[in-house]
Amino acid sequence: MDNSSIADNFSLLSKLMDIHGDNSFKAKSYAAAAFTIDKLPAELSELDPEKIFVIRGIGDTIGKKILEQIETGRLLALDEYLAKTPPGIIEMLRIKGLGPKKISTIWKELESENLGELLYACNENRLTLYKGFGEKTQQNIKEAIEFYLGSLGSHLYQQIEPFVESVTRKLTEEFSGQQFIVTGSFRRQMEIIEIPEWVTDLDINELCEFFTHHEYECITGDNGYVTVQGKDNMVLGFFCCEASELYQRLFTTSCSAAFLDAWQEKTGWQPTDIFSSEEDIFKAAGIAFIPAFGREDARVIDAYRTGTPREVIQPGDIRGIIHTHSKWSDGSHTIEQMARSAMAQGYEYLVISDHSRSAFYANGLDEARLEAQHREIDELNRMLTPFRIFKSIESDILNDGNLDYPAEVLARFDLVIASVHSNLKMTEDKAMARLLQAIQNPYTSILGHMTGRLLLSRAGYPVDHQKIIDACAAHQVVIELNAHPRRLDMDWRWIPAALDKGVLISIDPDSHSADSFSDCRFGVLAAQKGGLTRENNLSSFSLPEFEAFLQTQHAKR
Ligand SMILES: [Zn+2]
Ligand SMILES: [Zn+2]
Repeated sequence: MDNSSIADNFSLLSKLMDIHGDNSFKAKSYAAAAFTIDKLPAELSELDPEKIFVIRGIGDTIGKKILEQIETGRLLALDEYLAKTPPGIIEMLRIKGLGPKKISTIWKELESENLGELLYACNENRLTLYKGFGEKTQQNIKEAIEFYLGSLGSHLYQQIEPFVESVTRKLTEEFSGQQFIVTGSFRRQMEIIEIPEWVTDLDINELCEFFTHHEYECITGDNGYVTVQGKDNMVLGFFCCEASELYQRLFTTSCSAAFLDAWQEKTGWQPTDIFSSEEDIFKAAGIAFIPAFGREDARVIDAYRTGTPREVIQPGDIRGIIHTHSKWSDGSHTIEQMARSAMAQGYEYLVISDHSRSAFYANGLDEARLEAQHREIDELNRMLTPFRIFKSIESDILNDGNLDYPAEVLARFDLVIASVHSNLKMTEDKAMARLLQAIQNPYTSILGHMTGRLLLSRAGYPVDHQKIIDACAAHQVVIELNAHPRRLDMDWRWIPAALDKGVLISIDPDSHSADSFSDCRFGVLAAQKGGLTRENNLSSFSLPEFEAFLQTQHAKR
């Protein structure tokens, strides 16, 4: 068992004890242990057992329970609590804003045992009858449950990618000579995938036989569409067709509904027409080939009919790693480790942007530590030249929209990334006031993760995208496309509007370790959907181009 699983077990145990109203002193000590273990640099399972007992914050009881987990893979005390708690109550812990105390009230007093019941109780305003639940809280809980239920059965692109690849590989091995081509939302590189889908010329009965044999349930629908569902609730979709129909089937299932409607209208396309490749479909229509990722918005069709299509950005076009955290704040590697890793992967520069002082939970940097960090970067730059490390900060945008340091400190950075990290619960007016204030600050070069959304778990605060884009254009601020697969924020749907205004985008990995620069690829896949080009992406700038960009930024100050 690794540290994070052990920490998760202690954390869950602590919460369940609180829900049951048991020994709160003990519950607190398990929560504290979870926190400590999560932060440990070494794996507990690799330590000498004696060493475990002397770690600060881990006493005899916790130490024994750690050994129990390493040896047996289980935590008996947790199993006992799990056995006496309804699954619906445990699931409530996944709802934002519902802690053990509130869940205890919901279970014991309101007598709701699952999310469906609780949602119903919210609709009937019953929650407000209990201590600790105002109208506002009830509304928040209701929205959080709706959000959670709406996202069940959905997957992040990055989460499902290895699965899709392995299914394709296995099927191709099993049925040599048959085609299994990925289609649907996955082929369109959507950030969230509900059902991964394939087009195949395999006989429908053979397909079902195969999956039934592997304990999947097989449901045949219309038009040769088959869904198969595994025990883990994973659903896969297959469009079965004749070999001669493969490509028109691939085409129609790779377009959004709006795109396909417009396509039929504009080209007179008949689904019964036979083609031997997707390229032929476009040739016949007299329209340049539109890759599947671009088949979302109907307007794309006209753009590809009339002009030479713009060459969209490719994963290999990232030349610098912008927005990274080192050990100085909440990252797990030193600046040197980050820089050497970036160099080894062929990048030309690295922008270190640790957290600013208000982010105390992330070990944000005060002025004294900043000075020391900058000395370290100077030293490394001498050593690693021509590779360059730039001094940056991910400055919190404070409640009033100001950045986290006075101007004379901000002036010491090569560039400033401004992001909201606290008080995320805002009305649109409040969020806009805060963001616009930060954009106007002459030290702001990049606006970080614009909405604060976390895909499938947090909706993000409401913003007026167009107004932000306009303000960024007016103040020469770059908008980040945070490439973390759970963020992908700003949403790619707004890239065309940003390009219209001449606003640069920056695909940034927001790396907290040297191993996650590759997340840039997820940012690129999303950016392709918005038609981003290399020229409009800051992190595709060469080192001299990036230095010239900094010059123009410093002229604002
Ligand atoms: Zn951030
Ligand atoms: Zn960050």
